Amino acid sequence: MTKNYQAEIVAVGTELLLGQIANTNAQWLSEQLATYGINVYNHTVVGDNLDRVEQAFRLAQSRSDIVIVTGGLGPTEDDLTREGFEQLTGLEIIEDKTTMEKIESYYKERNRTMTPNNRKQARVFKGATVLKNNAGMAPGMYIDYQDTHWFFLPGVPREMKQISSEELFPFLENLTGKQQVIQSTVLKFIGIGESNLEHELTDMIHEQTNPTIAPLAQDQGVVIRVTASAASKAEAQKLVADKKQEILARIGAYCFGEDEQTIENKVMELLAEKGKTLAAAESLTGGLFSSNLVSAAGASNVFAGSLVTYQTAAKEALLGLTPEWISEYGVVSKECAEAMAEQAATKLNTPTAISFTGVAGPETQEEKPVGQVYIAIYDEGKIVESSSILLSGNRNNIRERAALKGFELLYQYLK
Ligand code: ATP
Ligand code: MG
Repeated sequence: MTKNYQAEIVAVGTELLLGQIANTNAQWLSEQLATYGINVYNHTVVGDNLDRVEQAFRLAQSRSDIVIVTGGLGPTEDDLTREGFEQLTGLEIIEDKTTMEKIESYYKERNRTMTPNNRKQARVFKGATVLKNNAGMAPGMYIDYQDTHWFFLPGVPREMKQISSEELFPFLENLTGKQQVIQSTVLKFIGIGESNLEHELTDMIHEQTNPTIAPLAQDQGVVIRVTASAASKAEAQKLVADKKQEILARIGAYCFGEDEQTIENKVMELLAEKGKTLAAAESLTGGLFSSNLVSAAGASNVFAGSLVTYQTAAKEALLGLTPEWISEYGVVSKECAEAMAEQAATKLNTPTAISFTGVAGPETQEEKPVGQVYIAIYDEGKIVESSSILLSGNRNNIRERAALKGFELLYQYLK
């Protein structure tokens, strides 16, 4: 069993705290460290203040096996990384001869006089390994201080990346044995909310190590990213596949696909599999359901068309609903949704149809609240699904959620 290394990335710079730049160094380093199977447990950002830099280093020393510091190695007054570590450890700082020569010749070649503060960049901890900077002036440093591996890298991303690739990563490869391979899969769910899904998987989420499982709410429902690292691709894939089975055994009924799969595509595939063509009648969604469905390539094989019947007059003219019928049942009703679905199938000559009617807001309608939506599915001569739901959000949220709910109901019915 190899050691489970805990890493921390400390970014030094007030610019980061002021929001003037984003901490892309930490992001990049985290991504890279994951490929070595090293857990990054903390990202710390600290401003250019000596005492606070020391404090941040003290905390890192107390909790991490590997600490990667970026920034604050330059020549200016506010570059305090060395001083902060010196204050913490009492390590002696010496001038690195090779670096000093490099700085001097740089100025000499350009016929420029070197200001004294440039000497600062050549200052390194006694006993540290100097990490050559081929992209800039200040070198990086590595030092093993009381069993914590400290790496000091310049803040400039280009320099940081170069030193990491040439010095840090080979070191990590040595430390951890072998380079790790990462594999991940995204499982997509519909018809189950994020909190319900987390509830079903609570124990797995708490116990996760490798693979990790991360649930995320997205526009089309909830997804779970399963990520594993292992010495080989096959091993990592096996870990992901096993964890996937474990998840699907619990909530597989809601899983409509993986990775690039969309609910529109899935519904289209199911229609094609069953040899069905679909028609739609849309009121509050105003064609949104149809527009989403035809975004899936190959929709023309399974989708006949849609009647967008928004005003009552259009429902009469295109769906053949009579004024008497409408005055009895209203246009925002279960009965109306069912009649719309049946009429869409009849008018467009398809076995299957779906319909949407409801109140998108902002005003209520027929004494029904904003967000009240009725969806019906008609198939082979009868209504097979008739749903009454209350959706939340603004006008367009409600329309989008209604269309998505339509896909969910079709998926559940067809699968
Ligand atoms: P220099 O020798 O250039 O002064 P340095 O090691 O002192 O380098 P800083 O002065 O802290 O590093 O940062 C130099 C520049 O690098 C910053 O102005 C910023 O543009 C960029 N930088 C610093 N830290 C980060 C970070 N964490 N993420 C992204 N960019 C950063
Ligand atoms: Mg600087």
